Amino acid sequence: MHRNFLFDLDQTLLDFHASEYKALQITLTENGLPFSEEIYRDFTALNKFLWLELEKGTLSRTELFVRRFQYIFRRCGRDPSSIDPLAINEKFILAMSVNGVLMDGALDFLAKVKTTIPDARIYIASNGATVNAKGRIASTGLDRYIDDLFISEDLGVVKPDAAFFDRCLAKIGEPRSSCIMIGDSLSSDMLGAKNASLDSVWFMPSGEIEKMMAQYHITFCASSFDELFDVLTKWSATAG
Ligand SMILES: [Mg+2]
Repeated sequence: MHRNFLFDLDQTLLDFHASEYKALQITLTENGLPFSEEIYRDFTALNKFLWLELEKGTLSRTELFVRRFQYIFRRCGRDPSSIDPLAINEKFILAMSVNGVLMDGALDFLAKVKTTIPDARIYIASNGATVNAKGRIASTGLDRYIDDLFISEDLGVVKPDAAFFDRCLAKIGEPRSSCIMIGDSLSSDMLGAKNASLDSVWFMPSGEIEKMMAQYHITFCASSFDELFDVLTKWSATAG
């Protein structure tokens, strides 16, 4: 049996916001629209709200893609009906996919996990668009350490739904107790691990940590890649 590490992607291994910033700048500029820090901030605020709605099941992926760019067109003073939001969204996702940005130290960390922890298997468990995740993983060189990718668009279900993790486990083909979920998000990663009865590591925790650990049945916390490595080494020695 292996030690199966399920890593969230964004703000865990890759810096989603840095890629998003670059991609929005490229996409708006190429379409003759203005770009500024304020436009980026407004875009991310709306995006965050829409992704939470998606996680709650009140919004579809297509609705999310349409709504975020209709909003941006209005924000840029354009008539939303004059541009195809899905076409712009596709360009945006493609721009992101070739502009991956690593979290500081992520590549060395994964190399150390892969070469130091016996029987380590590294998986990505991410909500998002497959082309976006795959492209950013390849453009940063993370792909050489990853055994398989579990992306919500492919699986047809999103974290925190227990069914997302059931599909991951079916593909891994090993017991639940051999798997641990590592991520930064309470609402998708930690709640998902709780729903699926998986061990979990809350990466880069903030706020009311003790209270959240109890509420989400979080097994460990780690505030740096060094701490995370120690936690995973310890877990690996006892997991079964
Ligand atoms: Mg994340």
